[in-house]
Amino acid sequence: MIEFAEARALVLAAARRLPAETVPLAETLGRTLARDVKAREAVPPFTKSAMDGYAVRSADTRPGEAGAGLPPAAVLEVIEDLPAGRTSRKEVGPGQAVRIMTGAPLPRGADAVVMVEDTEAAGRMVRVRRAVKAGDNIGLAGEDLEKGETALVGGALLGPAEIGLLAAAGWARVPVARRPRLAVIATGDEIVEPGERLGRGRIRNANGPALTAMARQAGADAAYLGIARDKNASLAARLARTRGADVVVLSGGVSVGDYDLVKAELEASGVKPVFWKVRIKPGKPVFFGVRGRQMVFGLPGNPTSSLVTFWLFVRPAIDRLLGRAAVGPEAGTAVLDTAIAVKPGRMQFLRGRIVGRGPVLKVVPYEDQRSGVLRSMVHSRVLIVLPADASRLEAGREVEILYTDGR
Ligand code: AMP
Ligand code: MG
Repeated sequence: MIEFAEARALVLAAARRLPAETVPLAETLGRTLARDVKAREAVPPFTKSAMDGYAVRSADTRPGEAGAGLPPAAVLEVIEDLPAGRTSRKEVGPGQAVRIMTGAPLPRGADAVVMVEDTEAAGRMVRVRRAVKAGDNIGLAGEDLEKGETALVGGALLGPAEIGLLAAAGWARVPVARRPRLAVIATGDEIVEPGERLGRGRIRNANGPALTAMARQAGADAAYLGIARDKNASLAARLARTRGADVVVLSGGVSVGDYDLVKAELEASGVKPVFWKVRIKPGKPVFFGVRGRQMVFGLPGNPTSSLVTFWLFVRPAIDRLLGRAAVGPEAGTAVLDTAIAVKPGRMQFLRGRIVGRGPVLKVVPYEDQRSGVLRSMVHSRVLIVLPADASRLEAGREVEILYTDGR
């Protein structure tokens, strides 16, 4: 039996970064950037108006530099009307202005824009009621990104903002890490797929769908291979279909029961064990092995043990395969809102809820921590991490937390 930190390190050490592939920008949500990318174009590409109004020489709006208080209104001659998408060939001279729309390039000569709300049009003239300084209400060329500047670094998870930035910087096809191919196998004679007849002594397959979903959420290309029965031949048949997978995840059958055949069958199929049993709760019987570059996880069958150990071991493996900058799950700290008494001996991961909205993040454990209670996962957003030697933790004590909501 090994400690959690050592087990996690062994998993991460076995993960080899996957190669890159290039995909259209529109298909990059949730993907991982394979390398640093630079802005191909300046963002914005030209100095532009940030308001609908009038492009002016700012000094013209401050006749006499009256200092504080209302400046005497300036009256300027409007020499052109400039919508977004058009460039002016004129130059704004002293006493002149160009009517300009948001997004239009600032004409030569002008150094600021007066908002339309601060003006009154009068024929070919405009009266400016508020003074502006150079740079007011304009966006400078390259102020977001200079051409050639690093826009995003390799390992970045691509979300909506990153995708927007890549688009702005001129990227139409993006180098991303190939998705890890992951195979999920549920095991157990008593397990029945949703939609099939339940029968006496049978239980629904919760882990197959949940683990497949977790893998997809983590960015893997996950295939669900169905239920293997607690027979060597049945397990072997499913395992034979996992040859091309980067990661194999099995649930159930890794404990010490008479029908827990997973470990032996994995070894028979060429999987080299790296560890079996970690000093954690839930999830003690978790197994990890490798077959060449393939990483194989045997997770305990109890639904919450399965989900928690996926989160603790498989999720970081996927992150590492993808070359993610942040290897999950995301950790933080919080303060216990209630005292907790636990049996010492194993590091514990309590399903926890975040409570209140104060300046300090407060957490409480979900009432029922039994590993069969899947509802606890639905109502928890974090795992509260308790050190192995903890027996009683008072309210107000700071604890480590792991976010379980996909981040
Ligand atoms: P095992 O790890 O195979 O000993 O299973 C531990 C407990 O988890 C048993 O009560 C199983 O019935 C249950 N279990 C195993 N696999 C699943 C599954 N795929 N979905 C729901 N419960 C399961
Ligand atoms: Mg079983």
